[in-house]
Amino acid sequence: MIDDGVQALVTTRGADEADHAPLMMNLSLLVGDDPDQVIQHRRQVAKWLSRSIESMVYAEQVHGGDVAIVTEADCGRGAVTAAGSVPATDGLLTCEYRPVLSLLFADCVPVFLAAPEQGWIGLVHAGWRGTAQRIAARAVKILAAEGVSPASLWAGIGPSIGVCCYEVDETVVRAVGAAGQLAAGAAVPSSIPGRFRLDLGEVNRRLLLAAGLAEERIERAELCTACHPQWFFSYRRDGRHSGRLGGFICRK
Ligand SMILES: [Zn+2]
Repeated sequence: MIDDGVQALVTTRGADEADHAPLMMNLSLLVGDDPDQVIQHRRQVAKWLSRSIESMVYAEQVHGGDVAIVTEADCGRGAVTAAGSVPATDGLLTCEYRPVLSLLFADCVPVFLAAPEQGWIGLVHAGWRGTAQRIAARAVKILAAEGVSPASLWAGIGPSIGVCCYEVDETVVRAVGAAGQLAAGAAVPSSIPGRFRLDLGEVNRRLLLAAGLAEERIERAELCTACHPQWFFSYRRDGRHSGRLGGFICRK
């Protein structure tokens, strides 16, 4: 997905290697699962990245628009207890080697950013509220202030709830529309009056384009979390105790 020098991944619900039985690889410490098991899953992900859990940096994720720059000193935050997460933050950026930027998702849009030549990486959690606050564009703006030109950025938009399944009311469409990126096709009227189907991944793609990214540098996984129960957790489908999949990015 992203150029040399950076590694990124999105987890699935997992399957047991031996019998392919669902492993339910939930990565959230806040949905009622045994914390030891969740931590074990996080250790597994760290191993896939050739890193340790002590390098992971988690954020509180409050469906806000704030993005934080983190450093080596933040490594381990939120990794074994949610209480230590970077507070009131839905986006993480770093230019350092050690931090593994780690965010959790169940339908919301994961937006990965990388400028491998300058050594910057980023990860954003964009639900409709974060999207309405243009969180992905805010991340790009912070990077620009650090000397990373938007045109040099690569972006990956991970699996999220698709236009097929994401029915919302007018309040949501209006809030996201206020972010200015609701041109043709991103919200279509559903069969129920006053309801719309929203393509949140597309809205985020347009936010990135408007922020100055080149179209050919934005890649999108066109996979809906709600209609692929064999692969993904989905808040819409499974409710508030739904597991969470993880998005991770770090240098390599
Ligand atoms: Zn769907």
